[in-house]
Amino acid sequence: MRIILPNPRGFCAGVRMAIDVVDRVVGLYPDQTVYVYHEIVHNRHVVGRFKDRGVSFVDDLMEVPEGSVVVFSAHGIPPEIRRQADERGLIAIDATCPLVTKVHSEAVRYARKGYQILLIGHANHQEVVGTLGEAPEATLVVESPEHAETIEVADSEKLVYLTQTTLSTDDAGEIIRVLKRRFPHIHEPGEPDICYATTNRQHAVRQIAPEVDVVLVVGSRNSSNSVRLTEIARNVGTPAYLLDDASELHECWLPKGGESNVLITAGASAPEDLVAAICRTLLDRFGGTLEEWDIVDESIEFALPVALRRIMASKGVDAGSGIVTVESGLSRDALYGAVPLTVSARSTPPTLAEKVGT
Ligand code: SF4
Repeated sequence: MRIILPNPRGFCAGVRMAIDVVDRVVGLYPDQTVYVYHEIVHNRHVVGRFKDRGVSFVDDLMEVPEGSVVVFSAHGIPPEIRRQADERGLIAIDATCPLVTKVHSEAVRYARKGYQILLIGHANHQEVVGTLGEAPEATLVVESPEHAETIEVADSEKLVYLTQTTLSTDDAGEIIRVLKRRFPHIHEPGEPDICYATTNRQHAVRQIAPEVDVVLVVGSRNSSNSVRLTEIARNVGTPAYLLDDASELHECWLPKGGESNVLITAGASAPEDLVAAICRTLLDRFGGTLEEWDIVDESIEFALPVALRRIMASKGVDAGSGIVTVESGLSRDALYGAVPLTVSARSTPPTLAEKVGT
């Protein structure tokens, strides 16, 4: 078996920052329960590992005792939740990804200028609930091209579209094409809202998937960007499966007999040790080689939330640089079952048009 690992894969800067926040908060409050509003990131293992350390995940702030510490997840929250936290005297630390916050700010800005906002995304996803909450009167959620064909707007001259950050660039592009045809004067964000991490991971799968027999995506079923990676692979005709960890691996997914080429990637919320364990399992069972294909360089930094830095300072804890960095690194670790051979398959980074699929 020939296993290919793409770079980038797995943790993005927003996820790394959110996990780092909870990790530090647990250390700052060793004698009390730390609460997290919603799953900190959409990954069963990340959440389970924090639960094992005593963190309590809630879907309703009323479950958090007054005066407790609560962390808001990477997906963002509507302003109403922030208000509720203030009213209950909670010590709130916001781990919303800055790229989600950017979309919130756009929603507020356009709504103030009197625009109607068409928010492309999945209506029940926490990120969309949060963005919608910034301008509920001005926003309509658009979930599909069919929906875009029939949606009624108040004034097609005062219209803008925004998108959820973790959509498939292909799917979002289809919806945007319909909206532009129906409303030629619709405004669009200067930079696409679909974030760099989503775009780059999808770009890597789009590049490599046609060359392999099967694509395995490590991630949880409620992880939007992980599910989208399986769809991108299937769109180019390659079977793709989503799995949380090695225990969910099915031999029937793999081609029978002969050489097989398997691409293993991971959604932005999936820990790398799970990827390594799947590689190990496959190489133990079938033997073979491991290659790491370097497709797009990523080197992104986010600052820790201000509230957390203030708490750390008040407790005399050094926040270091206060910066969380994620670089796409090459794996040189025997934990993978073999040390990967590096293949520099660096392609031109995705173009603006490819980013939104238009
Ligand atoms: S996937 Fe993108 S928007 Fe979501 S947390 Fe990661 S960097 Fe932020």
